[in-house]
Amino acid sequence: MIINRLKAENFRNIKKAEIEFSPGVNLLLGKNAQGKTNVIECIYMFSRGRSFRHADDKSLVRFGEEGFRIGMEYESASGGGSLEYAMFGKERRRMKNGYKIERISEMIGSFSAVLFYPDDLSLVKGGPEERRAFLNIAISQCYPSYIGIYADYKRALENRNCILKNAAKGFYFDERELIAWSELMATYAADIYKERKEYIKKLEVYAKRVVNDISAEKEDIMIGYSSDIEEGDGADLKELYRKVFTERLMEERKAGVTLFGPHRDDMEITVNGKSARSYASQGQQRSIVLALKLAEGEVCREIMGEYPVFLLDDVLSELDEQRQRYIMSGLEGRQIIISACSDDADMIKPDKVIEVSGGEYR
Ligand code: ATP
Ligand code: MG
Repeated sequence: MIINRLKAENFRNIKKAEIEFSPGVNLLLGKNAQGKTNVIECIYMFSRGRSFRHADDKSLVRFGEEGFRIGMEYESASGGGSLEYAMFGKERRRMKNGYKIERISEMIGSFSAVLFYPDDLSLVKGGPEERRAFLNIAISQCYPSYIGIYADYKRALENRNCILKNAAKGFYFDERELIAWSELMATYAADIYKERKEYIKKLEVYAKRVVNDISAEKEDIMIGYSSDIEEGDGADLKELYRKVFTERLMEERKAGVTLFGPHRDDMEITVNGKSARSYASQGQQRSIVLALKLAEGEVCREIMGEYPVFLLDDVLSELDEQRQRYIMSGLEGRQIIISACSDDADMIKPDKVIEVSGGEYR
């Protein structure tokens, strides 16, 4: 996967810009607060469907403007094309190859990128929601249908929670309705579980290799999926989830909320058998994050038949020289878009340097 061109209008501090990328290493070089991350955020919008900086569409609009428009041209194994996303007031418009598309999954499924960002450390240190988000985004890029299944699950969950809330308050509620939502949730939960479990299995293979390499075979990482069901050979996943959603209803009626299911699952990471979240050192945590991201790229290639675009925002300065070298050599031959302030750019051998200043790119 290669991004050839990016266009942005009234996006963050960019008034109007058109940037061409090399298929190799692209260095976004500039001082602080000039618009390096803004470009990476803009590109990643096409792959994730929204900002990775916990920002809603409105905050992406250039101060004083009413909306933004972003577009890109890419090449992929299936031919490539162009994508466009525009928002103006309440209106949103997504286009693929000049035609309007309704579903966000069509956009996300077309262009894939892996993002390295300093906040990624929360993947190890943070709560389960960070790791679930990582899984959801990574799986969505390889299997766009996952987005729809997860959205359907969340909708059923909201409805079920609404009923449970009424039950907890002692209000009237329809028991049959509760069962009906539980049944629906079991169907989606089984699919989500299956996709996540398979994805983690693939991810672990590559992540193990990276951590092994970086630690000179002293460290062994394991990644498991922690959920509410115990899966035996040939288990009927839907049946297992049906039990989860019906057998502990009294508990949930008291709590007024759904206490079990994939929306509470976690990805458990251990180093030499010990929980990474509780015991890994800073350096080990950095290696694990690096491993997860590089592995995400490898799994993408395994499933889609090509590497995604690698977006590295300000990450090298956080790593020691050995890890810097590992990441840059590990990504050799792929398209990389990397941001750096002038002084820490030594390790990068760019094919193209894009100078960034005040939302302008040269
Ligand atoms: P650093 O090296 O510090 O990470 P950067 O070059 O990555 O800097 P960006 O995060 O891209 O900087 O932000 C560039 C500028 O864009 C900042 O000054 C920020 O205040 C500004 N900015 C953010 N959102 C908007 C917006 N909606 N409208 C206008 N400017 C914005
Ligand atoms: Mg930045």
